[in-house]
Amino acid sequence: PFDVLVVGGGPAGATAAMYAARKGIRTGLLAERLGGQVLDTAGIENFPSVPHTEGTQFAAALEQHVRGYEVDVMPRQRAAKLHTDVETGLHEVELETGAVLRSRTVVVAAGARWRTMDVPGEQEYRNKGVTFCPHCDGPLFKGKPVAVIGGGNSGVEAAIDLAGLATQVTLLEFGEQLIADEVLQRKLHSLPNVTVLTQAQTTEVAGDGRKVTGLKYRDRRDGSEQELAVEGVFVQIGLLPNTDWLTGALELNGRGEVVIDAAGATTAAGVFAAGDCTTVPYKQIVAAAGDGAKAALSAFDHLIRTS
Ligand code: FAD
Repeated sequence: PFDVLVVGGGPAGATAAMYAARKGIRTGLLAERLGGQVLDTAGIENFPSVPHTEGTQFAAALEQHVRGYEVDVMPRQRAAKLHTDVETGLHEVELETGAVLRSRTVVVAAGARWRTMDVPGEQEYRNKGVTFCPHCDGPLFKGKPVAVIGGGNSGVEAAIDLAGLATQVTLLEFGEQLIADEVLQRKLHSLPNVTVLTQAQTTEVAGDGRKVTGLKYRDRRDGSEQELAVEGVFVQIGLLPNTDWLTGALELNGRGEVVIDAAGATTAAGVFAAGDCTTVPYKQIVAAAGDGAKAALSAFDHLIRTS
């Protein structure tokens, strides 16, 4: 069996594997897509000591760094189930292929994916005006008009954040009212350059072939089709953790995030978790990498106490 088996090959999983391997213990890493969400990212400008890099370049460097250590890397493998053998105490990760990997400890770093609107233009203009991360891409829209889709906490927080950079922020909510916390809504309404549209259903992201130029939406009150000139569209309608395969094995919160403590421990002894798939706030590369390190060190600590 492995000492540490990491599920996920994004910033959290890769860092966890490196930290585990550096302890000289048997380390495995399986991932559907090595690199994770970073592969879908254009420019990255908020990783300390790296003023600018591209997502694909960052992912390649991450993989190279992991492979520099004694890590059994298993790419293109999907975990389908996690359970613990009560007799041996070993954790078993069952792959979609039916194969079973055994390990003394597991680090779950399966990440998350943004919920998309599924309207024409959204995929085409991804990273060309359509974005999912205000912390990452906000500065690109300084002095430009933008739209935020979604009136929950993330949407309203994004609109408040962007109001300090963009000329004009229009927040579109599908329902009759915003569902963000009262205090956020009050702050939002106090800002002079924010407009809130409720009962607004985005129907298309428009562009000139190179970048976003606007947004089309249906006013659900009267069914009329409306247009908005914007250069950026921030989609904030939910982040879905990749944790379906963990149901029943670990405690997940209402959003499906793995519940962890400050050391990355889950509710199952010997199973740790890190990054975007967990309850940790602020889903960012540097945060995921830091949490990956913590989870691996916690796994190591667990091993020296139990064997
Ligand atoms: P992920 O990167 O999501 O990696 C998850 C890993 O788990 C992948 O390898 C995946 O294939 C694997 N996996 C999932 N399910 C399974 C399974 N069942 N079995 C096996 N493997 C599985 N953050 C920044 O800090 N700066 C930025 O500029 C930035 N830009 C972004 C731009 C875009 C378009 C997106 C989508 C995100 C951006 N982010 C940015 C956020 C950042 O990418 C994430 O916070 C970070 O990648 C999270 O790392 P992670 O390792 O937790 O998860």
